[in-house]
Amino acid sequence: MTERDPDCLFCGIVAGDIPADLVHEDDEVIAFRDIAPRAPTHVLVIPRRHIADAQALTDADAPVLANLFAVVRRVADEAGLERGYRVVTNVGPESGQTVFHLHFHLLGGRPMAWPPG
Ligand code: 5GP
Ligand code: ZN
Repeated sequence: MTERDPDCLFCGIVAGDIPADLVHEDDEVIAFRDIAPRAPTHVLVIPRRHIADAQALTDADAPVLANLFAVVRRVADEAGLERGYRVVTNVGPESGQTVFHLHFHLLGGRPMAWPPG
């Protein structure tokens, strides 16, 4: 569970080397507030283990994926997002992905436009 990419910003947050405003942590998953929030609630939910993006997931990652979404639900509950929220994961440069460690953006607290840009 300590497979760390030494060049990865989010691995640095997992390790505690880079400070973050954590809202959840367990053996597999951490969640923390985005440094540049795009909505009143903007939390990033990530596996502790370095996985580059959703395209790199394998069948063996099913348990961590279930846990990631369990944390999404818990954070949404705690933030009072009963009116709805959006979960986004960018995959690859054309999507706008800038940090290549799998993360789910949980965005809520305001109406969301569709389609995204
Ligand atoms: P991406 O563009 O890869 O989908 O999302 C990366 C997110 O990470 C962006 O929303 C960006 O604001 C956030 N981010 C980048 N650097 C940091 C940081 O050092 N701390 C935190 N909390 N968020 C960061
Ligand atoms: Zn990483």
